Amino acid sequence: MIKTFTGPMHSGKTAAMIATYKKIWNKDHILCFKPNRDTRDIGEIKSKDYDVTISSIGIDYFEDILHYIDDKTRTIFIDEVQLMEGNVNVLTYLSIIKDIDIYLGGLNMTSEQEPFLIMPYILAISDEVEVIKASCYDCGRDATHTYYEGNKVEKIKVGDEGYIPLCRRCLAKRRGLEDAKKLYLGIKKDTSLGN
Ligand SMILES: [Zn+2]
Repeated sequence: MIKTFTGPMHSGKTAAMIATYKKIWNKDHILCFKPNRDTRDIGEIKSKDYDVTISSIGIDYFEDILHYIDDKTRTIFIDEVQLMEGNVNVLTYLSIIKDIDIYLGGLNMTSEQEPFLIMPYILAISDEVEVIKASCYDCGRDATHTYYEGNKVEKIKVGDEGYIPLCRRCLAKRRGLEDAKKLYLGIKKDTSLGN
């Protein structure tokens, strides 16, 4: 079984993972992982909503998980899964052949509303996907998007700083029509498509 918690930044994906983790009484058969590319809170999964910190194993590739599991492993958690690399089908193997329950937390889109790296594959192989909404920074309604405030140099910038959750309407306002056309439609300058 593969279940993925996804949504924008600050939606509580990690909190949902921790809530699931807390419900499992016998924790001896759980393994928690986090990509080394995530430089925040190295070696631990934590959320400001819980005072629980779960220690995690830093890995780079899905294949690395195979070195840690044994016959007793029943449940796997991977936080910030959008930053993982390698063969996504390792998870399918672990779920189907090893009968391990896998819980994943990760961003579905970048702050430019592009599908986030491997996430389309992760969402496709998941048995269950829970899209967690954040609260819009500008108006307080449900937010499903992440927006980056400021100048971004790297394509994928790790960390929370400068990222805010927005609802569609507030995102449209902040983004503006020109920028939206450039980003979403690949149109440089307003020409043939009108509005
Ligand atoms: Zn809003």
